[in-house]
Amino acid sequence: MPAKNTADSTEQRSFAINGARVVVPHVSGGLHIVATPIGNLGDVTIRALSTLAGADIVACEDSRVTRVLLDRYGISRPLTTYHEHNAAEQRPRLLAWLADGKSVALVSDAGTPLLSDPGYRLVVEAAAAGHALVPVPGPSALLAALVLAGLPTDAFFFAGFLPPKEAARRKRLTELAAIPGSLVFYESPHRLGASLADMASVLGDRPAAVARELTKLFETVRRGSLSTLAEEFSAAPKGEIVVVVGPPLDTPPEAGEIDALLLRLLDAGSVRSAADEAAAVTGLPRRDLYRRALELREGERGAEG
Ligand code: SAM
Repeated sequence: MPAKNTADSTEQRSFAINGARVVVPHVSGGLHIVATPIGNLGDVTIRALSTLAGADIVACEDSRVTRVLLDRYGISRPLTTYHEHNAAEQRPRLLAWLADGKSVALVSDAGTPLLSDPGYRLVVEAAAAGHALVPVPGPSALLAALVLAGLPTDAFFFAGFLPPKEAARRKRLTELAAIPGSLVFYESPHRLGASLADMASVLGDRPAAVARELTKLFETVRRGSLSTLAEEFSAAPKGEIVVVVGPPLDTPPEAGEIDALLLRLLDAGSVRSAADEAAAVTGLPRRDLYRRALELREGERGAEG
């Protein structure tokens, strides 16, 4: 059974706002995927509160974090955990509760579950088993950052966290380079400077924004080119970070810019990888870029000799 909070299933289900208590109906059976605030506890929807207060069980990543939200709104429901380290054992248990007709409210520590957070496999298996799935939409750092960035919002790609190691990160950036829209990344503060520098080198010096501590006391957004932001954040800032990068620059690059890009890429890798990355970034034929990269490398060797 889930760990008991203080309520049992016979207790009246309710939440409270500013001292006013609202009684809610028992939430119907199924998996309810509930978005919660990303910092400011005021950013919770009335429907999220009703679902959390009316569900049989709340499945959360860290009960200490979720209890802060539930306590703030006077909600007392049984909590159980579902996180990356216990998902394999917990999933069958949650699916069994769903099969038993119970309502399970899934939350993560912040924002929308499944977005760089646990829940995807649970949703897949709950859907396959024919259980009802109910989204309760609300905050997500991805959309909060995107709307602040001052970059195109008509098409965007959410890329989650980049790989921590440089070679894998650059490879991933190369795959993303030709996407015709803004790119949104989650990033940890201590990798921010290195990631921005790799973005500038692989994606080209696009306009970008770094959004920090969204909805919290020290919310800030810095806008600029990737290279200026890389310099600004070479020392790790504090707090939670989203990086938004503008779409590929649409004017075809001039010969000098292509050479500058190839030289930067040659600094970090082989002629072959420089040609691959430059082709992904510029959309120009790889064969031409390979030939030019080779000339530049030979030129560098000649200068050294
Ligand atoms: N599921 C969440 C969502 O919908 O936004 C994101 C969870 S992910 C594990 C956590 C990452 O989201 C953080 O490392 C940071 O990149 C971003 N994030 C979460 N809250 C944030 C905030 N208040 N300000 C800026 N970024 C935030």
